[in-house]
Amino acid sequence: MAYEQKNNQPYTVRVYEQGCKECGYCIEVCPRNVFVQANYFNDKGYRPVQVKFPEKCIGCRRCFFACPDFSIDVKQGGKDSL
Ligand code: SF4
Ligand code: SF4
Repeated sequence: MAYEQKNNQPYTVRVYEQGCKECGYCIEVCPRNVFVQANYFNDKGYRPVQVKFPEKCIGCRRCFFACPDFSIDVKQGGKDSL
């Protein structure tokens, strides 16, 4: 359940794992350390980023704008908002 998105948090962050190319930009720009690198590979051979601490997100969307592969989505509200 470590990566399960909860409903009672202000923002929901989702990473499209198959689109991630492991550049690490989102990890660099996130001021709250929401992301971690996975220890497995996606279909293209990259280790995708995981949303490990979604409850820490403040909705700044730096990750959304930093991702060159449009693989991150940030929405207001809990998981039902996506
Ligand atoms: S919106 Fe901001 S705080 Fe939330 S995961 Fe992205 S960079 Fe981090
Ligand atoms: S910025 Fe996008 S492509 Fe780069 S590590 Fe993060 S999710 Fe993956």
